[in-house]
Amino acid sequence: MPDPAAVARNDQLQAASAEAASWLAQRGAGEGTSLPLDQAPPWLKEAHQSFAEAVEARAATYCLHLVGRGPQVVVIQAEYPEEALCRACAQARAPHRFCLTCCRGAGTSSPAGGVEDTFESSAVVYSRVRCPTCVERAALDDSHPDVG
Ligand SMILES: [Zn+2]
Ligand SMILES: [Zn+2]
Repeated sequence: MPDPAAVARNDQLQAASAEAASWLAQRGAGEGTSLPLDQAPPWLKEAHQSFAEAVEARAATYCLHLVGRGPQVVVIQAEYPEEALCRACAQARAPHRFCLTCCRGAGTSSPAGGVEDTFESSAVVYSRVRCPTCVERAALDDSHPDVG
């Protein structure tokens, strides 16, 4: 039997998803592409999994702006996947984010504090940043798939 709270939450998530898409578009993320979770990159699967587990265990935290204010976009930053943030809080953190690959400061060459990848899943925006060095290294690895 469906839990009414879960149904309500799901409705809210769907209502907010169009908003998430336009927020990403405004930030230059371009048209969203939908991505089946089994094709998601590992960092995204991990962030999604950690957040889902935290919600399940009631260990997830939500910034104050997300509580009791109706449907809105939730941002999960991959370095703290058990924390749900509103967009303003997510942006306020941007300069302090660190590279998900090497854990060093991501650099301040972009507003995201590095190179940011975002994925939208229903109304949740998942985001990671990497420093330019790690992005370059990953691109090299990708161009030699037989090596790794
Ligand atoms: Zn907030
Ligand atoms: Zn790095």
